Amino acid sequence: MTKDNHEFLIIREGKSYEVVIGLEVHAQVTSNSKLFSCSSTKFGAEPNTQVSLVDAAFPGMLPVINEFCIKQAIKTGIGLRAKINNKSVFDRKNYFYADLPQGYQISQYKYPIVGEGKVILDMPYGQKEIGIERLHLEQDAGKSIHDIDPENTMVDLNRSGVALMEIVSKPDLSSPDEVNIYIKKLRSIMRYLGTCDGNMQEGSLRADVNVSVKKKGEDKLGTRCEIKNVNSIKFMQMAIIYEANRQVDLLEEGKNIDQETRLFDTKKNETRSMRTKEDAHDYRYFPDPDLLPLEVSDDFIDSIKSDIPELPDEKKKRFIEKFKLTPYEATILVSDIETSKYFEEVIKDSDVKLSTNWITGELFALLNDRNLEISNSPISAKNLSKLINLIKNGTISGKIAKTVFELMIDEDKDPELIVNEKGLKQQSDPKELEKLIDKIIENNKEKVKEYISGKDKLFGFFVGQAMKVSGGKANPQLVNEILKKKLK
Ligand code: ADP
Ligand code: MG
Repeated sequence: MTKDNHEFLIIREGKSYEVVIGLEVHAQVTSNSKLFSCSSTKFGAEPNTQVSLVDAAFPGMLPVINEFCIKQAIKTGIGLRAKINNKSVFDRKNYFYADLPQGYQISQYKYPIVGEGKVILDMPYGQKEIGIERLHLEQDAGKSIHDIDPENTMVDLNRSGVALMEIVSKPDLSSPDEVNIYIKKLRSIMRYLGTCDGNMQEGSLRADVNVSVKKKGEDKLGTRCEIKNVNSIKFMQMAIIYEANRQVDLLEEGKNIDQETRLFDTKKNETRSMRTKEDAHDYRYFPDPDLLPLEVSDDFIDSIKSDIPELPDEKKKRFIEKFKLTPYEATILVSDIETSKYFEEVIKDSDVKLSTNWITGELFALLNDRNLEISNSPISAKNLSKLINLIKNGTISGKIAKTVFELMIDEDKDPELIVNEKGLKQQSDPKELEKLIDKIIENNKEKVKEYISGKDKLFGFFVGQAMKVSGGKANPQLVNEILKKKLK
């Protein structure tokens, strides 16, 4: 189902403009060694310690394709429900840059390894399908470092030759929110597959953001500008808003938009022109004579297919059908593979509804607070499950459970031990509760009179008193029942 009734519009003088966005996402392939050499790809090593002669482009060196990276690209293609091409070709994309020792980047141009596919976004206004144009493999360049030496630029070639997947979307995105959800969905799919860690701080995931605007309802796309190499979702969104407004302003002044490559200045929150847009022919692409066309058989592709785990969309469907979650709850719980594993572990022997609420409520708040991933949760799935069972079987109230939760945190302590040690068991003995309530009635005769003469609101006061006197341990349901009987 595609429902698209949400609109992100830029309005000037009563005229509405739509924003059109296409992303070229560069995702670093999870692999121990580089695309055409055996150097390590480990992040954070001393500069220039992971550079083979191939990566440094010594004369006469020959690239040798890394089969594992091919498998990773195909896996990702399957995750994007895309066509896998049996034949693809590696080309040289020629340009000069100090951190590109070869003078060209090996990439795929006319014949990429993965063709058209799609990604489904769960938006508040329904599902939206974003088309994938292609996924191709290419080498990363080295890194120029400008802030070590006051006079010179330093070059670190550790990244040179690392395998990237460039995932090109169709211009189907229409708002900063959709870009946010799209990047998160891509990252989620690749993390499920283990093909890219999606770590944006380490540069494993970055994007070129193409933006254009057009009058609302018009079919023809406007001229796009490409904002290069944006490395956080927040910056992508800021860049889009700035750039779309800039373009609308130009159009409103009756000017044209030049197709160009721009940079986003994160400090000034503006995009600036880098160069007019280069076209493919500026790169003099040609097939790399050192590499044969890449041919993969259907059997090879099928063997990879049989290895694909359950992906977020399928998991979501199963969670809704099997556990009766709402689509919203299911989306949250499957968005990260570790979260979904934790959830399934907790509900193995606990109530699903309570577990969902506790995970998305208290646990997420705790993780958020301490800036932790769920895989490092201070409370294990086993102990959270125990806590939920204590609530479910009436041993403790939901309110007391929050106290117990706090006490569990530091040592991942067994909640049963805490409840016993601290005497937090819920008071559910009707006789004792009756005694307690009799006393409250005895001590608040005036209020009782007012209540009986029609001030219904006071009921809450009596419940509050019972909870207070019992230190929060009285079973609230029983308190209600007994109070009703006694105050009649
Ligand atoms: P290039 O290498 O020249 O950037 P690609 O085909 O690799 O070209 O990528 C083009 C990107 O620009 C795609 O993500 C596509 O969706 C997007 N795009 C194309 N036309 C427009 C447009 N008019 N407005 C916004 N994005 C566009
Ligand atoms: Mg581009």
